[in-house]
Amino acid sequence: MQIILLGKPGAGKGTQAERLAQEAQVAHIATGDMFRAAVRDGTELGKLAQSYMERGALVPDDVTIGLMRERLAQEDAGKGFVLDGFPRNEPQAQALQGLLQELGRPIQAAVELEVPDEEILRRITGRRVCPQCGATYHVEFQPPKVPGICDRCGHELTQREDEKEETVRKRLEVYRQHATELARFYEARGVYHRLSGLGSEEEVLVRIRHLLQTLGVWAQ
Ligand code: ADP
Ligand code: AMP
Repeated sequence: MQIILLGKPGAGKGTQAERLAQEAQVAHIATGDMFRAAVRDGTELGKLAQSYMERGALVPDDVTIGLMRERLAQEDAGKGFVLDGFPRNEPQAQALQGLLQELGRPIQAAVELEVPDEEILRRITGRRVCPQCGATYHVEFQPPKVPGICDRCGHELTQREDEKEETVRKRLEVYRQHATELARFYEARGVYHRLSGLGSEEEVLVRIRHLLQTLGVWAQ
């Protein structure tokens, strides 16, 4: 299975990608998570990425595409993947086509999760992440068993720097600049689908699963 989840920051891409990848036994590849890991590790890539991320801007394409090239070459990606947060613009989508052609694994579906801005702001300001293992939570909708502690690895949860309302608005603006070109790109290749991202996490998951089964992308 090779699919892409598209949508605004906070649309639920990471939440759904993680569950889909687990169920389908494929890799969950999220450039945002990879950049955050690099920031945490203090690498050169992390230092560069951080200067863009804290402003809500996109990390330059050559850097992001290079990162994705390396990630797709790893063994687990050979079984398939759910991409989350990549591609974010047409040059990245073009580059991805090239990389996948080399691997002989075309994108089967690019699914956009649609969520209005008011709901996005509500979701993002309540989001908490585990800096250790990357698990995500929401104080209201998906709280951890013990407040502030990761269910999975026991580490203390944190709030992302780029989740202040002002930065979120900037990220929404950046998203809007490229949303149409990405939709057109995948529409032209016959793999673009739009679904409502509203409702519970489970409801959205059922919706995506149903679409993928209808398309014959997912056999389960
Ligand atoms: P993205 O990866 O698209 O930026 P996330 O998956 O990280 O979005 O979700 C953003 C926040 O919204 C998280 O705190 C998550 O727990 C919460 N969330 C995700 N899906 C839903 C949903 N269907 N209903 C309510 N909250 C959700
Ligand atoms: P995300 O977690 O996907 O919302 O990404 C957080 C931040 O990481 C974004 O605001 C960008 O600064 C950066 N980022 C993640 N993915 C990409 C990408 N594909 N291209 C450029 N920047 C990205």
